[in-house]
Amino acid sequence: MKDNKKSKELISNDKKNLKKTDRKLIINPLFFIVIITYFVTRILQVFTGTQHFWSRLWNKIIDVIGDEPFGVYVVWTTIFSFCVYWIFGSIFTFMDLTLSPKSLRKYKVQPNTNEAIDKKTLFDAIKVILFNQIFVGIPLAYFGYYVKRRKGFPENFRDVPGFERVVLDLIVCILVDEIGFYYSHRLFHKGFFYKHIHKQHHLWQSPIAITATYCHPIEHMLSNVLPVAGGSMIMQSHTSVQWIWITIAILTTLNNHSGYHLPFSHSSEFHDFHHLKFVECFGKLGLLDRLHNTDKLFRETINSSRHRVLFSLKSARERYPDRVVKKTL
Ligand SMILES: [Zn+2]
Ligand SMILES: [Zn+2]
Repeated sequence: MKDNKKSKELISNDKKNLKKTDRKLIINPLFFIVIITYFVTRILQVFTGTQHFWSRLWNKIIDVIGDEPFGVYVVWTTIFSFCVYWIFGSIFTFMDLTLSPKSLRKYKVQPNTNEAIDKKTLFDAIKVILFNQIFVGIPLAYFGYYVKRRKGFPENFRDVPGFERVVLDLIVCILVDEIGFYYSHRLFHKGFFYKHIHKQHHLWQSPIAITATYCHPIEHMLSNVLPVAGGSMIMQSHTSVQWIWITIAILTTLNNHSGYHLPFSHSSEFHDFHHLKFVECFGKLGLLDRLHNTDKLFRETINSSRHRVLFSLKSARERYPDRVVKKTL
């Protein structure tokens, strides 16, 4: 009788958690990007005593890289993307290879996985990732440059857009990325496409950060690069905004594949669950998964309760331990 009551309480708590999850899935990414950008800008303005901090910073970058369109659109945008990907990807890879710092091990989404990464498997993955970045990423960057050249390069590199325009562009980029990634990803889970294209990405059932772009070149083009580039193409975003968006998109996908659900960062539970179960959670935000009910199993598991930003040092598993009243992993 007592156990029954306790069980009902746990289910009721879980339902409350699920309601919170419903809200945060929609709000989190947009909310944090807008608020953090706003406050960073304002704080830097206070310390530097200028109203145009981003403009000054961007113009210093242009002073270094020059304002020749081919150099900015193709060479430096590629170098910038490479640096963001490999600097942050290497930090996660170092954590996986050395199993340190020990204090972060409790944040693993799937504990005890990749505890000893096979060096050859890792090296093979790096070769595929580099192939995609060089032979897919660079030609697509050149294609973007070619389209802009046909339009006569309407952009003035040194004129940084206002804050509101930056936010609007980022919101469009996020939504276009969600739509492009969700539907192309779902298509890649259909028989022929899965077998011949997407299966490669799922060889990592418990992914690590850099395997975010470990995939077939066709998938890299249709699911990774084009959805990310789509929003800024539609909005004809300024290159400075594109670089902000590239940073957000790369850090998000590295985090989603990292296998860690770290405090004060966006939760990686959703996409990690996709790698674990294959059949659900195709999008990034969770919006289209909710619309198409492709997050049904996820919402029935304790993973959905864990899918939130952690505002303390307690891990998601400590906060929401596996329970018998829910389907556990
Ligand atoms: Zn998939
Ligand atoms: Zn993935």
